[in-house]
Amino acid sequence: PYDVLIVGGGPAGAAAGVYAARKGIRTGIAAERFGGQVNDTLGIENYISVLETDGPKFAAALEAHTRAYDVDIMNLQRADKLIPAAEPGGLIEVQLANGGSLKARTVILSTGARWRNVNVPGEAEYKNKGVAYCPHCDGPLFKGKRTAVIGGGNSGVEAAIDLAGVVAHVTLIEFADQLKADAVLVTKLKSLPNVTIHTNAQTTEITGEGGKVNGLKYKDRVSGQEHLVPLEGVFVQIGLVPNTEWLKGTVELSRFGEIVVDAHGRTNVPGVFAAGDCTTVPFKQIVIAAGDGAKAALSAFDHLIRTPAP
Ligand code: FAD
Repeated sequence: PYDVLIVGGGPAGAAAGVYAARKGIRTGIAAERFGGQVNDTLGIENYISVLETDGPKFAAALEAHTRAYDVDIMNLQRADKLIPAAEPGGLIEVQLANGGSLKARTVILSTGARWRNVNVPGEAEYKNKGVAYCPHCDGPLFKGKRTAVIGGGNSGVEAAIDLAGVVAHVTLIEFADQLKADAVLVTKLKSLPNVTIHTNAQTTEITGEGGKVNGLKYKDRVSGQEHLVPLEGVFVQIGLVPNTEWLKGTVELSRFGEIVVDAHGRTNVPGVFAAGDCTTVPFKQIVIAAGDGAKAALSAFDHLIRTPAP
């Protein structure tokens, strides 16, 4: 059995692996795809001390750093069940989709999250070529350009306010008949001179030319009329879904499906910790996930030295 078994190999899982291994304890990482969301990222310009890199390079560096330590990396492994220890300090089991099973004295869950897609023509084709999901990450790439935000909930309206300060113009597209964001955000958004809001608007296509986005088509759900907004960027903000479906009923989740953690990264299950985008930690970013993974590993180590094996 492992002293620490990490499930998920994104920035949070990799950082947890390095921190755990440096304590000289038996450490394993089971991950569906080592590197996580970073693999799908083009430019990264906000990981402090790294002025600029790209996703695949960053993912390779995460793996190289982790492999420099004595960590069992089990890639292409999907966990589908967590079984808490039968007695205090006992072994926790993680069952894998391939039928295998791993046991450990502590487990760190770092399965990340995924952005919900709008699933319209052009979205997949122009991902990273004008279609973006993270305003903190990619907002500055659209400096002085025209963009749209799809989604009028809190994250969409926050994104639109954020982008309005950077880009030339923001068009906010909301499917429902009104914005669902908090009133204070809606008031702020409406006060901005370079924002246009369309409600009852169904995005039907993201258009492009020469490998780049050049417009967004939406249908007015009241009149049935189609409109084309010429622009250079589209931010999809219709939800970030934590990869925690497999934990339902075992670990306490928030109403958004995020693993509820305390300031030490502890979940409600003894010996089970969590870190990064799959948790309630605010703001989903690489530097935050990495710090969170380090914290969870130190908490797991602290738990191990205080908890005698039965
Ligand atoms: P993830 O990176 O999501 O990693 C999760 C890991 O868990 C993966 O290894 C995955 O395969 C694995 N996994 C999931 N489910 C299971 C399971 N059941 N069993 C086993 N393994 C599982 N952030 C920035 O700071 N700067 C940026 O420029 C930036 N750009 C981004 C661009 C895009 C297109 C996207 C999608 C995200 C971007 N982000 C950026 C956000 C950043 O990538 C995430 O905040 C960060 O990767 C979260 O790290 P994590 O380790 O918590 O989760």
